Amino acid sequence: MATPATKQPCPVCNGNKIVAIGNQAQVCPMCGGSGAMPVPGLQYMYAALFTLTALASATANISILNADFRWKFAKAWSTGPFLVQIQDAKANRTFFNVTPATSQLQGVPNSMVFGTAELPGLIQPPYLFHQNGGIQVSVTDLSNANNVIWVGFDGQELVPSTSTDGSSTSS
Ligand SMILES: [Zn+2]
Repeated sequence: MATPATKQPCPVCNGNKIVAIGNQAQVCPMCGGSGAMPVPGLQYMYAALFTLTALASATANISILNADFRWKFAKAWSTGPFLVQIQDAKANRTFFNVTPATSQLQGVPNSMVFGTAELPGLIQPPYLFHQNGGIQVSVTDLSNANNVIWVGFDGQELVPSTSTDGSSTSS
C-alpha cells in the first residue's frame, strides 16, 4: 500500500529528519528522525515465540508492517533464562555490544533487557523502528533444558495524524 498522501511533515524539521544545532546536523528530536508529524500512536506489541532445546539458539525476524513503531517496553516470559541479541534489520543496528566479540551474536542475559508486564524493561529513550523494517531477535538457552521463550516489543504504532485506524481506504 502507498503511504497516505495525508501524512503531515514534522513541524520542527519540515520532514527533513535532521536539524542543525550549531554547525552540527542532528537527528530531529521532535520526530526522532521519522520526518513525520509526531502522533501519540496506538498501543501495539510485536511478539515472538521460541521453543528451544537445551543450549540451542534461534533467530526470529519480525516485520514492521503497519506503521512506524516506537518501542517503549521490553517484556518476556520464559521457562528458563536465556541470552538475547537484538538488531534493527533496516538500520543494521545491533543493540548490545558484547566483549569478548565471540559473544557478540549471543548477546546478554534476558534479565539485562526484558521485564514482565508489571515491571517491564524500559526502552529510554524509546527506539523507533521504521515501517517496512524489521526486528531481528536471537536467543540462546542458558538453562541446559528445554526452554519456551516469549519476547514482546511493546510500544506505539505512529499512525498518520489524519487517519483514525489502519483500515482507512481513503485515497
Ligand atoms: Zn522532525
